[in-house]
Amino acid sequence: MNSDPRTELLALVSQLKRYVYYQKGLGLERFPRSTASSQSLAAVREELGDCHRCRLSGTRKNIVFGEGDEKACLVFVGEGPGHEEDFQGRPFVGKAGQLLNKIISAIGMTRDGVYITNVVKCRPPRNRTPLPDEIACCYPFLVKQLRIIRPRVICTLGTAAAQTLLRSDAGITTLRGTLRSWEGIPVMPTFHPAYLLRNPERKRETWDDMKAIQKELGDGS
Ligand code: URA
Repeated sequence: MNSDPRTELLALVSQLKRYVYYQKGLGLERFPRSTASSQSLAAVREELGDCHRCRLSGTRKNIVFGEGDEKACLVFVGEGPGHEEDFQGRPFVGKAGQLLNKIISAIGMTRDGVYITNVVKCRPPRNRTPLPDEIACCYPFLVKQLRIIRPRVICTLGTAAAQTLLRSDAGITTLRGTLRSWEGIPVMPTFHPAYLLRNPERKRETWDDMKAIQKELGDGS
């Protein structure tokens, strides 16, 4: 037995390195979900509290934290709650939400089996795009949600969600259609369902994005 703590630590590091190389050899590039974050979504919701970190708290009715499966393989990230979401305190329950439900079932999944949230958790007045400082206040909570769930794919809905997660100022037409990455998790940006309601001719492209997500999830979803 070696009693020198420094030598023991070095031996431990070397064992850990061998384990990581072994995992990589098996094709596992990411750590298992359970080690991604020890927090729970309930704890993050508690930390958010009766949030007054930005001006959106002054006009909201309810905080819309997100809902779904904490172990979801697929997470949808929208922009921010609209009127109906603000009223009910749940994401995507208005007209855009009905279309999102159809999109989810078109890929053989259910709302309960995925997780749905937004970049900002409070409704921007008149549904305007959230401002950079509002996004900055809320972003740490989105990061915590995503680190806890560590889904196999993230689907961003609309420009604001794609630009926020991908730290890009490119438009959604440029970003969509290609799998990108957030902290090693594949991200598929696609059109916002509210935009699709106004521009149904773009549904075809969203369907292509969904098929790419299905392919990424494979059979293990
Ligand atoms: N639009 C969004 O971006 N999020 C919702 O929750 C509802 C509509």
